[in-house]
Amino acid sequence: GQCATVCPVGAITERMDFRRVAEELYKHEKVLVVQTAPAVRVALGEEFGEEPGTISTGKMVAALRKLGFDYVFDTDFAADLTIMEEGSELLQRIKEGGKFPMFTSCCPGWVNLMEKLYPEFRENLSTAKSPHEMLGALIKTYFAKKIGKDPKDIFVVSVMPCTAKKDEAERETLLVRGHVAVDAVITTRELGKLIKMKKIPYESLPEEEYDTPLGISTGAAVIFGATGGVMEAALRTAYELYTGKELPKLDFEFVRGFEGVKEAEVDLDGKILKVAVAHGGANVVKLMDKIKSGEVYYDFVEIMACPGGCIGGGGQPKSTRPDYLERRMQAIYEIDENMPIRKSHENPAIKKIYEEYLEHPLSHISHELLHTHYLDRKKSVVERKKELEEVN
Ligand code: SF4
Repeated sequence: GQCATVCPVGAITERMDFRRVAEELYKHEKVLVVQTAPAVRVALGEEFGEEPGTISTGKMVAALRKLGFDYVFDTDFAADLTIMEEGSELLQRIKEGGKFPMFTSCCPGWVNLMEKLYPEFRENLSTAKSPHEMLGALIKTYFAKKIGKDPKDIFVVSVMPCTAKKDEAERETLLVRGHVAVDAVITTRELGKLIKMKKIPYESLPEEEYDTPLGISTGAAVIFGATGGVMEAALRTAYELYTGKELPKLDFEFVRGFEGVKEAEVDLDGKILKVAVAHGGANVVKLMDKIKSGEVYYDFVEIMACPGGCIGGGGQPKSTRPDYLERRMQAIYEIDENMPIRKSHENPAIKKIYEEYLEHPLSHISHELLHTHYLDRKKSVVERKKELEEVN
């Protein structure tokens, strides 16, 4: 966005989004839909004096309803959908050939970095949109139709641990049938501020559930919030789809934890998949330079720009506790463990939306709504505009 160019820390966009959300809530002329990212639920409590890693999903949902949102959906639903699309894309590349390594694409901090420093890897990036953009696209199409509304009368807010998502939401490449998919992005801290501003008694709120069907998710989705989580969720699904067998053990411990670059070989019943996970800018650059020089080879790589992944995002509460990231990470895996369903392809709401609307992963309509392409930001603005016109 324009503001991000004049204000590199994104402070101006931050204020603008916050004001727009406050105004829309006050006017309440549109259908107000909100979605929350996985990492928000393990950090929001800190804004209200709770310990890092307190799981505040239920209270957060209740607070969002009290703020006036008509529908409270979960970005986790779309994280499951991301796994279906991205996992299928990986398997398609394995079977039919394609660029390797395939990189995850859900972190706009990483996507920006790749477009600027490593544009030659653009086609290696999964074409799957990030989860909140997928959900926004479905809200403005599938859900709009379901509730009989024009997409222009729906206002979608994403609550994210992330400041880079604000800029992402403005990408022209993410327009859906002429509409922006996500109208405003506020951070975990900004949500805390909104709740305080409206004097909602957070401490005494009851626990409430997300709305259906775009609020139903699995344990595989929530681990998107921590480094290694997207890889683990993808492996749970890719293994079963590729081999047709049930995974003997769901936890892929080698991709968990805070080590800067994690790598492993995964046996898909004879097909060995070389995978790597990196988080935090310096580790990412180190890994990318090695991949670029040919020093290392991987089939599939997960990259998150923030240390620890989204739990350590720039929009999360500031903590002075030395172990706050560990605690948030622990909470993420605790939620996963306690979920009745822990694999994306077993999410009943995901199965249903494919039956009802999306047909199958990588279908024509899935491509239209859930996939995107990337730009070479080393090129001039004119060249990029031409590139955009050619694709559209
Ligand atoms: Fe945003 Fe950081 Fe998460 Fe990337 S890792 S999506 S930049 S919070």
